[in-house]
Amino acid sequence: MFRATIAVRSVCRITPELLRSRGIRGLLLDIDNTLTTHDNPVPAPGVEDWIAQMREAGIALRLVSNNHPPRVEPFAKRLGIPCICEGKKPLSSGFRRAMEDMRLPKKALCVVGDQIYTDILGANLFGVQSIYVPPMKLETTAFFRFKRCMEKPFLPKHFID
Ligand SMILES: [Mg+2]
Repeated sequence: MFRATIAVRSVCRITPELLRSRGIRGLLLDIDNTLTTHDNPVPAPGVEDWIAQMREAGIALRLVSNNHPPRVEPFAKRLGIPCICEGKKPLSSGFRRAMEDMRLPKKALCVVGDQIYTDILGANLFGVQSIYVPPMKLETTAFFRFKRCMEKPFLPKHFID
């Protein structure tokens, strides 16, 4: 339940070939610490080019974030990707809404995210593949430090790249 299907060092390492080999045609993307650092309105270097590459390959994209609309909506608009705010991960409701919007079957979907207990657990509860990426920058709040500590036993040891 806490294990990702695969792990990569950064979203930019996810290639159309990798997705094709796993039958993935749509990505449910986390934002904070996956596409940029926490609450940063600017995508991390390389992310916009990577998104263009995914689009060119025909991969459907949706942002599914637990964060609030004032954080998520401007970021989604900037990237031109539809979003689900307050996605309540690891619950399935946000993923389900995105899936219905994408009109893709579960087997063609994959969650991409940096948190074991929201993104990866959420993907496993929903029944889709997942790609773990390490957080771009570790959070400093006590709550997050606790969460990161609790993730340790389930962090992937093998990264495909
Ligand atoms: Mg995150």
